[in-house]
Amino acid sequence: MSESSVTPLLLSNVVVPYSYHYKLTINHLKPNFSGEAIIHWKKNNNYNGQTDSKFSLTLHACKLIITSAFVGDVKLSISYDKSNQHVSFTTEESISDDSPVIIQYMGQIKTINTYQDTTQGLFKTNYLDDISGKANNYILATHFQPHSAKYVFPIIDELQHKPESFQLDIVTATRFKVLTNGKLTNQEYVNENTLHQFKYDLPMSPSVMGFVIGDLEYLSSESLLQPTTRIYTCIGESRYARYALATIEKYLPILQQKFGLEYPLSKLDFVTIPFLNDGAMENWGLVTVIPSTLLVDELTATPAERQQVVELVVHELVHQWVGNWVSFDSWNCLWFNESFATWVTKNLAQIDVDYEDMLDKDCLYIDDKFTIQTIHEHVSTVYTGLNATTSSIFDSNIYQKGIILLNMISEMFKHEGKDFIECFGKFVINQFKGEAIKLFDIWQQLNQCISIDLPSFVYSWTRLSGFPLVRVSYSGDKLHIEQHTYLYNIPELDKVGVEDAPFHIPLLIRVVDDNNQIKILNILLSDRSIELDIPKSQLININSGRGGYYRVLYQQNLSNINLMTSSDLIGTIHDLGKIIGTQHSTGQDLGHFFDILELFVQSSWKFDWKVVKIALVYLTKFQTIFTNYTNAPEFQTWLTKYARDLFQRINWDKVIANSDDELQVYSTILEMNINNKQAVDFATRHFSQFINPSSKSTFIPGELVGSIFNLSMSVATMKQYKQVLALVKNANTSLLNHTNLSQYELQTVAISSLAYPTSSELLRKTLNFINNNIDSKMIELAIVGISNCTDDTRVQIVFDWFKLNYDHWVLRSLRKGSDWSKQIGITVRNLTKLILELMNRNQKFKSFRTEFIESKRVGLPEHGLESVNQELEQEKEEKEMIASFFSDVKQKFL
Ligand SMILES: [Zn+2]
Repeated sequence: MSESSVTPLLLSNVVVPYSYHYKLTINHLKPNFSGEAIIHWKKNNNYNGQTDSKFSLTLHACKLIITSAFVGDVKLSISYDKSNQHVSFTTEESISDDSPVIIQYMGQIKTINTYQDTTQGLFKTNYLDDISGKANNYILATHFQPHSAKYVFPIIDELQHKPESFQLDIVTATRFKVLTNGKLTNQEYVNENTLHQFKYDLPMSPSVMGFVIGDLEYLSSESLLQPTTRIYTCIGESRYARYALATIEKYLPILQQKFGLEYPLSKLDFVTIPFLNDGAMENWGLVTVIPSTLLVDELTATPAERQQVVELVVHELVHQWVGNWVSFDSWNCLWFNESFATWVTKNLAQIDVDYEDMLDKDCLYIDDKFTIQTIHEHVSTVYTGLNATTSSIFDSNIYQKGIILLNMISEMFKHEGKDFIECFGKFVINQFKGEAIKLFDIWQQLNQCISIDLPSFVYSWTRLSGFPLVRVSYSGDKLHIEQHTYLYNIPELDKVGVEDAPFHIPLLIRVVDDNNQIKILNILLSDRSIELDIPKSQLININSGRGGYYRVLYQQNLSNINLMTSSDLIGTIHDLGKIIGTQHSTGQDLGHFFDILELFVQSSWKFDWKVVKIALVYLTKFQTIFTNYTNAPEFQTWLTKYARDLFQRINWDKVIANSDDELQVYSTILEMNINNKQAVDFATRHFSQFINPSSKSTFIPGELVGSIFNLSMSVATMKQYKQVLALVKNANTSLLNHTNLSQYELQTVAISSLAYPTSSELLRKTLNFINNNIDSKMIELAIVGISNCTDDTRVQIVFDWFKLNYDHWVLRSLRKGSDWSKQIGITVRNLTKLILELMNRNQKFKSFRTEFIESKRVGLPEHGLESVNQELEQEKEEKEMIASFFSDVKQKFL
């Protein structure tokens, strides 16, 4: 019998427990604990099988040894069903009264020694504290999600089971702190140990129950308004919990206000425990986490470390309402539970939801399927049975898709003047608190808050694969918007059997009216296409705020680029940059990309570093393609002028004191200005300052050292060239005081600048240097400066040298059994890729390339040239397509 076909105990039992009282005696030095369960039961209204007079109750239990079981005076017989982790208690005698079932049992305490050990059920570990220096401190903790409560309690371990009453008594060493989900009602000495008695505030599922026992200290919130809030840590570490505690104090009231419901339990603890496979577990009122994610030193913590604490703490706080109070009736809803907690956190802490990575991966079609499942496929196939763990149920792509889905829904709420989180509190949490629900219930409830058909919207985004490509065009003054499922790597959907079904797309159309008022119209496109009366002059862009999960291409020029927001520009640039070169793109799209670039040199446009940074990444890619795959002097002339104009927009006197984003832009602009005397002078000046620092305070940011070296090398004297070569051989470590590069990074920068000289003499020196060190790692970097070189004479010198030495290198690389021959093989492969790429620029070079490959194929033993060539040929398709668009955009460069 497969596990899924096992009837839930909540349905198959004639009677079901409604109240549990467990009494555990736990000695941390022993491998077992002993327990007593007092279980009150009642007739099961959900049971619809046959009934007879005999008493029978089946519970979950795993690795528990039941020593006795009674109802009143009647002894129950015990039988185990190990494969289903069931234990049954039965008697032939009829039970007339409603005495509780009383079970005596033993369970295991697992010892955890390494991070590989599975933390489930009850486990213990010892730890060393900084104060005493002794390792005899103990922590015992539980981890029940998804199916491990039954390692500690004989119980019905099912998601829908939330017992009305729950009491837990724990007897253990007096020195330990003892924490559970419940509130402490009594504490007393018992035979040199201490008894702690807890009563739970509210019914909860077994999977979010838990307890922690151990040598712990705590930091307590002094806020009077909140539930008693504490962070427990290992001895000596609570001082690092201040930031986490302040985060709870800040966000708990925000969540209460947003959800419109008070935190429902009387106390809230976070506990750090040294080992926990999932890193964090949101047990209700007793969150357990590993220390590294929660504890920071407030004096030295970086913004990124603080943000990580906020992300963890708020995520776990959200679970206290959604996941714990409102819970789900199946483990295949875990994606929603986790996505919701993370999305709410991002929303409240104002952390952007970035789709770009997912958009790159979610459109590939390999081996007859999309590379990423739909949410629906995941939900219907994920294994949630007895051997599942939280991490085996969790799928990070589906989690990411959940965040994207929630973000889209929230954007639509926002455009109807509604706050999604507030609506969720009012119509979902308030409605279903205490229950275990289906996801469909959520969409049904929220549907009353919004004009669109929310269940259909969710259906569309959870059932359809990938995402759509939306095309925007005009006929007259009619705006026409059309959608198709987007496949990156397959030209025709129908040939691979992919259904081109329409998504429900929030169009989020940003427009400017005749009075220069800007507004966003959210129209849902649920059909193939739509026509709207929005004149071209009024359209700014669609998918504003990146609210929707799709890419957009425009058939006509964008008339209002200057009115686009920073994030809309970034979205549009990515859409163009990622699609140009695929079968979906045309020369017009490349033209739009260059239209956007023109904006950056207009003085009326407020210079936006983030936008420019992203655009220049794509421009650099197109530059290399145009240089090596076209004969395009017009482009080079345009680029020189464009680079000069960009150079003028920036204040180069203040270059040192900038953020990483800005420095990256500075560096790229400098690199683009290799033909600009002003830029080369700037670089040469800074190069001299760096090589011969005049004072201790001389400092050049690491991000800039590369472009400063490259530009100054382009006009280097023999003396300067030798200075750089000396750095390649042996980085002068005293220079490291004047930049934030490591010694290795400085050497890499130096070697990468060696092919920049315009002088043939120096270029030949570099080539000699490579040849003499051909068995050195990364020596091929010395040639990278030639990649964007427009001077065919220099390219010719490099190619002649390559051809002359190639046979010799290959024969050395083929000698068996030595490390250096292996290294030469790697270097030659990389050099070949770099140099053959240069040989597509005109007919003459192309024939050199073909001749070279043919003669080496015949003249040398097999050495991998064929596979390098195949790799280049594969990448070539996209590059040649982009190069072919050049004629369409040539006008722009004149
Ligand atoms: Zn979570």
